[in-house]
Amino acid sequence: MQGRLRDRVAVVTGAASGIGLATVRRFAAEGARVVCVDVDTEAGQRAADEVGGSFVAADVADEAAVRDLFDGVVGRYGRVDVAFNNAGISPPDDDSILETGLDAWERVLRVNTTSVYLCCKHVIPHMRRQGRGSIINTASFVALMGAATSQIAYTASKGGVLALTRELGVQFAREGIRVNALCPGPVATPLLRELFAADPERAARRLVHVPMGRFGEPTEIAAAVAFLASDDASFMTAAQFVVDGGITGAYVTPL
Ligand code: NAD
Repeated sequence: MQGRLRDRVAVVTGAASGIGLATVRRFAAEGARVVCVDVDTEAGQRAADEVGGSFVAADVADEAAVRDLFDGVVGRYGRVDVAFNNAGISPPDDDSILETGLDAWERVLRVNTTSVYLCCKHVIPHMRRQGRGSIINTASFVALMGAATSQIAYTASKGGVLALTRELGVQFAREGIRVNALCPGPVATPLLRELFAADPERAARRLVHVPMGRFGEPTEIAAAVAFLASDDASFMTAAQFVVDGGITGAYVTPL
């Protein structure tokens, strides 16, 4: 590790699991002081303890909680350098548009997209005062490609994250604030691993589209987040940063 985030204050939402947890570990290894945010208080606290960071229990879809989160971080550390707005859900009742009810649609949009709006809204004023900051919002490769195995609300929610991120990146580009969207391909998080172990056909239906022939690891996504957070990415903003094993570039994949 290169200490690229030495003494930077970095907030990670969805820090208790998967991509968020791997990023907490990577940020800490790069020298950052990490603030872990999650609704899962037990696993979130554990993540913070592991890296000597702090934990804030917050629902990122709740405006008062998000405002208090960033005000609290600045109150405690004096600044906020990195915001990785990553918490998200992908519930089973989000499916084909023919099946998905308004309740699931609104819940997914709220947790996946409104949360990113709220986190950006309440961190940007702090970053403007500092004249610097790096925001990374987790979108997905499904914001770029259509799937016949639809999760319609999830896809729309990530499309929203992508468009919102691009616009903020452009708007604040001359104020030292970089805003980039991360578009991971399918990642072998515990949940996905379990799902695909129980249903190998479901996994095969997806794997055939991945040139590398495997799902990503959370650490591989975390490495990309650390790059975007660091000054190594100083000329990158308003970008859609794709980390997908080649999916979006492929027509025919190797046998
Ligand atoms: P995960 O389920 O392992 O972790 C998500 C974390 O977010 C959990 O700890 C959960 O408690 C937390 N969370 C959920 N709702 C919250 C809320 N309202 N407030 C605060 N915390 C909340 O998921 P993951 O696979 O690591 O996904 C992380 C992000 O990456 C999500 O935005 C997801 O959509 C995106 N993504 C995942 C994949 C994949 O294949 N796993 C692919 C592309 C994008």
